[in-house]
Amino acid sequence: MTGPPFFHMPARRLDGARVAAAIRAELMPMVAAFQARRGRAPALDIVLAGDDTASQVYVRNKERAGSETGLTVTVHRLPADTSRDDLLRLIERLNGSPDCDGILVQSPLPAAMGKAAAQVVFDAIDPRKDVDGFHPHNVGLLAQGRPALTPCTPSGVMELLDREGLAIAGRHAVVIGRSEIVGRPMAALLLQRDATVTICHSKTQHLARMAATADILVAAIGRPGFVTPEFVKPGATVVDVGINRLDTRDAVISFFGADSPRVAEFDRKGSTLIGDVHPGVETVAGALTPVPGGVGPLTIAMLLKNTLRAAEGLTPHS
Ligand code: NAD
Repeated sequence: MTGPPFFHMPARRLDGARVAAAIRAELMPMVAAFQARRGRAPALDIVLAGDDTASQVYVRNKERAGSETGLTVTVHRLPADTSRDDLLRLIERLNGSPDCDGILVQSPLPAAMGKAAAQVVFDAIDPRKDVDGFHPHNVGLLAQGRPALTPCTPSGVMELLDREGLAIAGRHAVVIGRSEIVGRPMAALLLQRDATVTICHSKTQHLARMAATADILVAAIGRPGFVTPEFVKPGATVVDVGINRLDTRDAVISFFGADSPRVAEFDRKGSTLIGDVHPGVETVAGALTPVPGGVGPLTIAMLLKNTLRAAEGLTPHS
């Protein structure tokens, strides 16, 4: 006997831009109250060393979002040939400054600083001002399930899941990617909220089969359209952290189809963005974050939230 044909509704779109705007709107009166009480706005210092094009854009976006929310944002632009010691001296000064609440050092650091530079520099930031949540002290607190300044991207994903009313406790979450910025803290935050968590990575065997057991699938890989429909259990929530640029017309057509508005966008701008999740997943997933407009805007909103938390002294170190 043949059953009725299976029609799947397209996945619900998890609108990160809308949630990020809501978070920022909530922060504004709190920032104003801080300003009224303390006589100055919460202050974020961003260090941008070198001239990486993508970093310039990220920093500009963070600066604008911070200023619009009422924070004082100072960008310290350093030339690409700045020595590691000079950068460390700046961090030291900011650590000691009563007018600085949050310090963010934009990655990547110039290659000339050496391979270990990022770790040395992040370790030098006062954990109370570590709004990126990369300091080992904050990483350790998170691993123990204690309150901490937590990395912005995975924190944004948690806010999105919560505000979209998606249950976490008891669900099987599969995180693909184990970076210190996204994958690992993502897994720790999901575990903290009682998900059953599996971390997958480049050496994982039977990756698609493993991913297809997830109720919540987080893709943080850095490979365009890597997560295809076979990775996804029908109805699962799929969070696409990846941001990849397609810069050939053929690539855009191969992912989105010749009729897609993305082709027109490519013709206008010379590139278009795609996540780590293939557009075909929309017909299988129950809910899905778009790229752009999904996780990206939340990352910035959580940076502002972390800055206010640091300014208020709402960290376990105070
Ligand atoms: P990363 O390169 O540090 O880590 C990638 C991870 O993916 C690694 O742990 C690796 O084990 C895993 N991986 C690589 N190839 C794999 C494969 N074939 N199969 C399974 N796993 C594989 O990257 P990252 O910093 O974690 O960033 C991941 C993606 O998220 C990138 O596209 C990045 O641009 C994006 N990102 C977005 C935001 C945001 O605000 N939305 C923030 C940070 C990173």
